[in-house]
Amino acid sequence: MKMIKTDSLGVTTSLIGFGAMRLPQTSDNAADIDAEKTQAMVDAAIAGGVNYFDTAYVYHGGKSEEILRTTLTSKYKREDYYLADKLSVFASKSADEMKAMFGVQLERCGADYFDFYLLHSVGRERYEQQKAFGAFDYMKKLKDSGKVRHIGFSFHDKADMLEFTLDNHPEFEFVQLQLNYLDWDRMGAKDIYRVARERGLPIIVMEPVKGGALAKLPDAAAKLSGGLADRGGQAAFALRFTASLEGVMTVLSGMSSIEQVTGNINTFSDFKKFTDGDTKLVSRVLEELRKISLIQCTSCGYCLDGCPAKIDIPKLFAIYNDWKNGGALFPAQIAYAGFDVKADSCVSCGACAKVCPQSIDIPAELAKLHEAIPNFDLIPPEVKENLAAKQA
Ligand code: SF4
Ligand code: SF4
Repeated sequence: MKMIKTDSLGVTTSLIGFGAMRLPQTSDNAADIDAEKTQAMVDAAIAGGVNYFDTAYVYHGGKSEEILRTTLTSKYKREDYYLADKLSVFASKSADEMKAMFGVQLERCGADYFDFYLLHSVGRERYEQQKAFGAFDYMKKLKDSGKVRHIGFSFHDKADMLEFTLDNHPEFEFVQLQLNYLDWDRMGAKDIYRVARERGLPIIVMEPVKGGALAKLPDAAAKLSGGLADRGGQAAFALRFTASLEGVMTVLSGMSSIEQVTGNINTFSDFKKFTDGDTKLVSRVLEELRKISLIQCTSCGYCLDGCPAKIDIPKLFAIYNDWKNGGALFPAQIAYAGFDVKADSCVSCGACAKVCPQSIDIPAELAKLHEAIPNFDLIPPEVKENLAAKQA
């Protein structure tokens, strides 16, 4: 396993980290985590040398932390791995509620302390609430108490906001940034990386595969190189891009299956830095991705709670993206027909777009989707039969 020593924190972390936000489920309900599969994944990760595990108060409706208690902290020696958790201020209604979160997290995780504790999702939209609740001082207090070894924050915004945050809060020891080759130029990932490097801060990478989108490349991109022929190769390529950047201490992969765990271990056990040839290949892959203009959703689910219409936004976007990404329209129509609440239930209140870390204009994309995937129920039966025959 490729290990990275970070002197400023006095830690040595595996370059690939285990993200516990997309664990296997037994139903559509995010809280129904498949415990058996998760145990096998954690065991394989530990055996393969992964020593960084990341969770958050809100992941899987709170069950991500709990499953790490049963699969990790109750089974392995505490000093054999690093545990990272996050203060999800946006999930609390008051400063007291926010402070109560920490004790719950320790209990859920079955831990006495966290090695890394992050203020969750700093950016313009969240900053005022974080400040009003005293979250920045609270983070410092937690560190002083010894229950948190290192404090940092995960960040979703542009470079100027990162500079502002770091200018005003020099107490943070590391940052967690969304870096991947799709966002590098288009979403300003290159700029936030530059700011973190200028400040000498160790970097934890999130969304290196852009919520899985970079492991589902269109056929034209997959044909560019043998290494991109399948999802495993595509994921490895995306992970190697960010893992090759200087200053990165670990790259979080939100693992969902044992195959992904073993694939990641293989990639990082025999880690090959990005080459000039790989960089040229990125440009060609991006050309292909630009042609299909996918919705840049990473399925984080942050938009769901505040939607008065109860639209399952990430699932609808996934249907659209699968269709655009080389799928057929007919299955997309069938899938869309199965939703009780469709995209046209959107009342354009904008609550979702405010909290979307990917800055997606969600109401506009929903309107586009509703128009692009014609209502299956309105299709005449003979046309449906025809389409079904073609599909078969
Ligand atoms: S804009 Fe539409 S999708 Fe977004 S929260 Fe409001 S109703 Fe829901
Ligand atoms: S639309 Fe935005 S907030 Fe909602 S799941 Fe996708 S990335 Fe997350």
